Amino acid sequence: MKLAAFGAGALGAVRDGHIVALQPDSDPAGPPPTMASVIEAGPVGLWRAEALARASQYRFDLSGVRLRAPLDRPGKIIAAPVNYSRHMSEMSETLDINDLGVFLKANSSVCGPGDVIRLPYADRRFDQEGELGVVIGRQARGIAEADALDAVFGYTCLLDITMRGGEDRSLRKSFDTFTPIGPWIVTADEVGNPDSLALTCSVSGRVRQEGNTRSLIWPVAKLVAYTSSVMTLYPGDVIATGTPEGVGPLADGDSIELTIEKIGTLSVRVSAAGATACPTAGAGRGPVPPPPR
Ligand code: MN
Repeated sequence: MKLAAFGAGALGAVRDGHIVALQPDSDPAGPPPTMASVIEAGPVGLWRAEALARASQYRFDLSGVRLRAPLDRPGKIIAAPVNYSRHMSEMSETLDINDLGVFLKANSSVCGPGDVIRLPYADRRFDQEGELGVVIGRQARGIAEADALDAVFGYTCLLDITMRGGEDRSLRKSFDTFTPIGPWIVTADEVGNPDSLALTCSVSGRVRQEGNTRSLIWPVAKLVAYTSSVMTLYPGDVIATGTPEGVGPLADGDSIELTIEKIGTLSVRVSAAGATACPTAGAGRGPVPPPPR
């Protein structure tokens, strides 16, 4: 099932270019279920969402609705720093996820399909990182790798927008709008194996990244299991699995398209309107990104 947030707080199921709104069966005028309420209800929530989709009288052409971030403020966003070896090479990094573990991005950095990434500083480099996003489906602490995918609700496209430099990772990746997700969440049953998904990311019409999650250093199950050994995972938490090679600088007016097999395409735009001078002095430090191509 593909679950999308759209309009002013509506939730819908996407199929064949259409979206059907999920309305409460008992009270059509009442508040619709939310993505968070569906995820938190576990298998019953999904079963009910499917029943509501089948019964729905509210069907729209996808091109006629405004999609929103499928989760507008996840409980937390955990991210993998260097989880593809070719990305490690292009950054001249000597450390990968085995050395670094994971880090956090602010949940206020989320935006959605069609939204605008706002670059805050005119004198710093900002890159796109196209990644598979994992949405957690149930509370999990210390889960075994063999059971870790059972804790996954679904998957989405995720852009980990990053300021290059020597400041702390969590700062460089936590500016408002720096975590676009969407265009919807595809449930885990529909995706199957998350470690074999083609990923393509284009900026202003030129392909920059062509990867596959089979090249993840830590596959999804290991990443979820490890993360749950550090912190309790809750329904709706999001894990950014890391980016393949092909990161590059963003500029005012760019558009970004991230396509992941079995999921869909997330499109956003980039603006540098109102950008100021950066108050922190990390520009000359930190991992060295590849030159613009
Ligand atoms: Mn990343």
